[in-house]
Amino acid sequence: MPLTEYRKKRRFAVTPEPSGDARPRRRGRALAFVVQKHRATALHYDFRLEWKGVLLSWAVPKGPSLDPSVKRLAMQVEDHPLEYAGFEGIIPEGEYGGGTVMVWDHGTWTPDVPDVDAALRKGELKLTLHGKKLHGSWVLVRTRGGPSGKPAWLLIKHRDAYASGDDVAETHPRSVVSRRLIAEIAWPEGRTVEKAASADPPDRIRRLVRNPRAGAPRKRGKPAVWRSNRALS
Ligand code: MN
Repeated sequence: MPLTEYRKKRRFAVTPEPSGDARPRRRGRALAFVVQKHRATALHYDFRLEWKGVLLSWAVPKGPSLDPSVKRLAMQVEDHPLEYAGFEGIIPEGEYGGGTVMVWDHGTWTPDVPDVDAALRKGELKLTLHGKKLHGSWVLVRTRGGPSGKPAWLLIKHRDAYASGDDVAETHPRSVVSRRLIAEIAWPEGRTVEKAASADPPDRIRRLVRNPRAGAPRKRGKPAVWRSNRALS
């Protein structure tokens, strides 16, 4: 069962994260990818690729780089349920991964290899991302074991029209589903704002504090993301 480790680590009575009980979606649709900015004990970006009914997941401490000469460490972590791609909100402190989660980028991906399973076994997966922030050709390459014995991979941008020296994490810090900063996601649920704000670019926080109403535009109608309405005690 691919989600056993995911479920074992979490208490679904306490965390608002999805349990992964929803039916896997139909075949024939494009494969989803998501990058979730996660201010937990340490800030990192969770890079997730839909494959065979789950999200293969890597924690990328520094986030993706558009510069092909930069190799970003990507620690493989447990598979996540597909519904996790829509999760943005707060994981309560003290729980596994406690902190703030933002949907930093999402879209679809296509493998650049005929056999994804073989590529994963071999430890070199070439892929193309069709996101809002991340585009074009990338590669995940497995290296020898990283810290704490987890499988370590490198996430590298290929040289193409989307390669750039732009620090995309810094220039595009907001959620692609709610336009919020990390601090603005933490704010309504309270208590972790200061920690959360440390994950946002300081100039954006200064602007937000000066003029809180000029922050993320509020969307009308049904929220595009799952939100907890449970008060955290
Ligand atoms: Mn994470």
